[in-house]
Amino acid sequence: RNHSTAAVLEEPISPGVSVNYTQLMINGKFVDAASGKTFPTLDPRTGEVIAHVAEGDAEDVNRAVSAARKAFDEGPWPKMTAYERSMVLLRFADLLEKHNDEIATLETWDNGKPFEQAAKIELPMIARLFRYYAGWADKIHGLTVPADGPYHIQTLHEPIGVAGQIIPWNFPLLMFAWKIGPALACGNTVVLKTAEQTPLSALYATKLLHEAGLPEGVVNVISGFGPTAGAALARHMDVDKLAFTGSTETGKVILELAAKSNLKPVTLELGGKSPFIVCEDADVDQAVELAHFALFFNQGQCCCSGSRTYVHESVYDEFLEKAKARALKRIVGDPFKKGIEQGPQIDNKQFEKILKYIRSGIESGATLETGGERLGSKGYYIQPTVFSNVKEDMVIAQDEIFGPVQSILKFKDLDEVIQRANNTRYGLAAGVFTKNIDTANTLTRALRAGTVWVNCFDVFDAGIPFGGYKMSGIGREKGEYGLKNYLQVKAVVTPLKNA
Ligand code: ADP
Repeated sequence: RNHSTAAVLEEPISPGVSVNYTQLMINGKFVDAASGKTFPTLDPRTGEVIAHVAEGDAEDVNRAVSAARKAFDEGPWPKMTAYERSMVLLRFADLLEKHNDEIATLETWDNGKPFEQAAKIELPMIARLFRYYAGWADKIHGLTVPADGPYHIQTLHEPIGVAGQIIPWNFPLLMFAWKIGPALACGNTVVLKTAEQTPLSALYATKLLHEAGLPEGVVNVISGFGPTAGAALARHMDVDKLAFTGSTETGKVILELAAKSNLKPVTLELGGKSPFIVCEDADVDQAVELAHFALFFNQGQCCCSGSRTYVHESVYDEFLEKAKARALKRIVGDPFKKGIEQGPQIDNKQFEKILKYIRSGIESGATLETGGERLGSKGYYIQPTVFSNVKEDMVIAQDEIFGPVQSILKFKDLDEVIQRANNTRYGLAAGVFTKNIDTANTLTRALRAGTVWVNCFDVFDAGIPFGGYKMSGIGREKGEYGLKNYLQVKAVVTPLKNA
């Protein structure tokens, strides 16, 4: 239970950059909120204010949607050639690379994720994703369809219009990229609402998008809260499509707002309780490391985190001992410090929620192997926590904890683990760890999840579709599949001239 607290610095490292963009981006310009209101965005390392950011509300959403509507209806964006749109995205990717460390600094400061993760993994992945979708821009086209009569029939794949997008705080700029990339490649215009916890990186990136040649009004960014700015976007009559990433609970609200307003199509990427299955033939050391990564990556704040670690009984004891040792070795501390694996949780609300789940785990009879408490005396750091003897009926095995809490469950055979793994309302992802090809094939087909990672986890290449079965969501993002969300299909039927 005694986690080393040595890594937590009492005095946080200075980020060394200043926050230059705090207003709303509407119609190509940074502007204050109509109400003049601002809200503070906090440093999760200390809870102190980083900056005061303009607080968008319904009136600002109206202004942003009008700008996006005009940019869509009058152009130039949807009327530019696909090649020209592609070039804007490519130039943007170059600018992201040029400002890589500055943006990664904002991301770490606002979110608490390790700087090395932001700078070396996420930012390059974001630039790569924009290049991927830049490549699609001039390869989106319809079909010709054979007819029973003398008709020439073609389909046009047209942009859907004004896309409303609402994103969460766990991967602020990556979520911005997953949303904006395909929307722009298809020729849509966008109003995006960032999460209230993490408004900074998207504002910086939006400035670069305009520097890359994006016409005004094409991407509008509103900082603000869910029930005000978010809901105004979800129910807006002039928004043609809505994409949301966040909790299942809020996803339901979004879908209802869309249904009650103009029936805009909605894609949802929601919560998860993903199983990670370690089979009897597994190399235990490798399985421990991967299961650890699957759960603890990004402070455990991943919708797809492998939060139910199923281990075959024949390797359970060895796995447990090593998983505990690995968690004890996890390096937690100021995310700006080199070599840090885990920073603070995003905010006090999540921090308290996670600690409450840990107490619930203990009370329900799971064995707390290590961790379980806050780390240090300020900020939202939590000890890497491991529970064993976890049973499916415990709250910690059912709810999404969204924190550094690993739950280990024992299983006997494949049929049983398939049934137990699928016995959840979620279906976002699953991990399978085995050397046996038959076992891998059986599990990948039986698991009801949008992604199954075999002997790997959290592989997020731009071309791989991502999304959930069941209450983990509707639709797929990324890849060619992600384009469909942002296109309308128009059938055009013309009589053949000399028929
Ligand atoms: P979390 O609980 O982790 O903050 P949410 O699903 O509530 O997750 O938040 C994800 C995004 O949804 C954020 O941008 C948030 O502001 C927004 N949001 C929250 N509530 C609503 C709502 N009622 N309508 C629209 N957007 C919302």
